[in-house]
Amino acid sequence: MEAILVSACLRGVPCRFDGRHKASPEMAAAVAGREVVSFCPEVAGGLTTPRRPAELVGGDGHDVLDGTAQVVEDTGRDVTAQFVDGAQRALAAAQSGGCTEALLMPRSPSCGRGEVYDGSFAGELVPGDGVTAALLERNGIAVRPAPGV
Ligand code: SF4
Repeated sequence: MEAILVSACLRGVPCRFDGRHKASPEMAAAVAGREVVSFCPEVAGGLTTPRRPAELVGGDGHDVLDGTAQVVEDTGRDVTAQFVDGAQRALAAAQSGGCTEALLMPRSPSCGRGEVYDGSFAGELVPGDGVTAALLERNGIAVRPAPGV
């Protein structure tokens, strides 16, 4: 079976904005027996851990890639460039690792698939993909949200 790209925080790496991880028994079971490429696009894009929470503003990850939306921290700092750079690095890691699918952290502005926060920092979800999920999908890598988180 081919390798699968997985959000590093789901593999126990404490790379989330709050310095924690999101490993779970459900995730371990979901990739049991698979060759896993673990990757954190936000750290790869140059952001520190911990870091301020960020959300997509003006659209989802596809709109960010098209240049019509931004990724902004709750302080107002624009981190779009870091998120796009991290997404490109994630795609490169997936391609060099032979990954045809990805299992990513739900709701993240990078890794979210199908729903993301709406940019208000009020916990409201809207349909859409994170920046990395969008770039992977555009390049033929099937992205699914991880179970159990
Ligand atoms: S960018 Fe993705 S891998 Fe990194 S902490 Fe956020 S959800 Fe996890």
